[in-house]
Amino acid sequence: MKLKEFMKKVSHVLPLFVTLKHLFMKPITIQYPDERLKLSKGTIGLHYLDTNKCIGCGTCARICPNKAIVLEDAGVKEIKTARGVIRRPIKHPSIYIGRCMFCGLCVESCPTKALEFTTFYEIASYERKSLYFSYKELAKRRE
Ligand code: SF4
Ligand code: SF4
Repeated sequence: MKLKEFMKKVSHVLPLFVTLKHLFMKPITIQYPDERLKLSKGTIGLHYLDTNKCIGCGTCARICPNKAIVLEDAGVKEIKTARGVIRRPIKHPSIYIGRCMFCGLCVESCPTKALEFTTFYEIASYERKSLYFSYKELAKRRE
């Protein structure tokens, strides 16, 4: 029997070997959401805002190409100076994540490194309003 004819006859059996081989291999899939992949540090997910570092300069809001960031009033901050304590109104950025394209310009341009990306990616929602993350929500550390 020629090789070509032989291969034709066994062609329907060969894929079965592939299946059998994978039966004894470690699965490459995971049981999400019970199991989660360990993501690399460079993964771009939801932003994190360190409100202690944020000086409310608004650079992040101005540079955002999608106008996804708005500055919200965050009360009054007391700053100690040589002349005494100054009370200054402060603003922090809130992000409408539905508009964000995760370009990273806000993170890169922040002068105090108050904004950073986390690896948290479970942001999808059925409601638009839940895509708005106030500065208080951004200040919660998610991984
Ligand atoms: S997060 Fe950074 S760039 Fe944005 S307002 Fe605060 S200090 Fe300024
Ligand atoms: S990552 Fe880009 S699009 Fe998203 S909020 Fe920052 S600047 Fe705007």
